[in-house]
Amino acid sequence: MYDIIIIGMGISGITAAIYGKRKNLKVLLLDKSMPGGMLNNLEKVSNYPGFTNIKGSELALHLFNQVKALDIPYKLEEVVKIEKKANFLVKTKTNQYETKNIILATGKKPKLLGINSERDYFGRGLSTCAVCDGNFYKDLDVAVIGNNKLAIEESLYLSNIVKKLYFITNIDLDLTKLKNIKNIQIIKDEIKEINGENDKISAITLKSNKVLNVKGLFVYNGYIPNTDLLNEFKVNKEAGYILVNENYETNIPHLYAIGDVIKKGIYQLITAAFDGLKVVDKINKETK
Ligand SMILES: Cc1cc2nc3c(=O)[nH]c(=O)nc-3n(C[C@H](O)[C@H](O)[C@H](O)COP(=O)(O)OP(=O)(O)OC[C@H]3O[C@@H](n4cnc5c(N)ncnc54)[C@H](O)[C@@H]3O)c2cc1C
Repeated sequence: MYDIIIIGMGISGITAAIYGKRKNLKVLLLDKSMPGGMLNNLEKVSNYPGFTNIKGSELALHLFNQVKALDIPYKLEEVVKIEKKANFLVKTKTNQYETKNIILATGKKPKLLGINSERDYFGRGLSTCAVCDGNFYKDLDVAVIGNNKLAIEESLYLSNIVKKLYFITNIDLDLTKLKNIKNIQIIKDEIKEINGENDKISAITLKSNKVLNVKGLFVYNGYIPNTDLLNEFKVNKEAGYILVNENYETNIPHLYAIGDVIKKGIYQLITAAFDGLKVVDKINKETK
């Protein structure tokens, strides 16, 4: 039986585990993917004290090394179900674990466009992360569709790798940064359809019926918090984000949430880390 199971090894979850371990709580960290979470997608980290120039993946590695150095138990397993009996049962695809408290630190995932078959092309030409996948499109033509600053930053990054980049948007964005880049063409339009060949993207058709022969499509359409695991719990949310009190308690006793998955004012690494510290302080006082 664990005192705390932390679902998610992003900066918020790892920080909670570090403080939990220091307070001698029995902690288990679980992640379905790579330790570091969102950090692994960031080319460059800004605004994090102590680092003027560090890649997200490097900071992610520092965090993971700290988990290992402190001997914090972790497993790379996807949590697929949470059940509440006297305690919580956390089920992964291969195991199940019992715990008194859960900290949900699952972050958020990119929102796609809602057009036909896009999910089928995920990883087959469709991507939401230039830093992760940009190199697959070296000297090829790609399109970026986006309605935010992230789309612009990711396009600047991709323009150094790809042959030609079509930047597609249907809203008024300040595109000054993209205008003088030789291999970027800005198109005011929307995507109607993704066209494929051998299960991979071969082109996209725009609402104007223009066809762009691209091998890659990068989508930047905002994010959705990862709260599916709580579907059966009637957890209070606002616009999809979990509502917590000042101690990070949800409306379900002993179920806490931290980081990008909660409703809060500022979504940064340092606030996510702070959430991890504060939540453990509360659980520690209750447990002892
Ligand atoms: C493009 C972009 C750039 C940014 N740049 C900066 C910056 O320069 N400086 C800064 O301070 N902040 C930046 N941020 C914000 C910062 O990255 C986030 O606030 C922070 O990383 C959130 O951490 P987290 O621990 O809440 O979630 P995440 O890092 O998203 O971690 C969530 C983890 O949960 C895991 N998970 C999800 N579901 C399950 C499941 N069912 N089972 C097991 N594991 C699961 C995921 O695999 C993931 O590892 C940026 C954000 C974005 C989107």
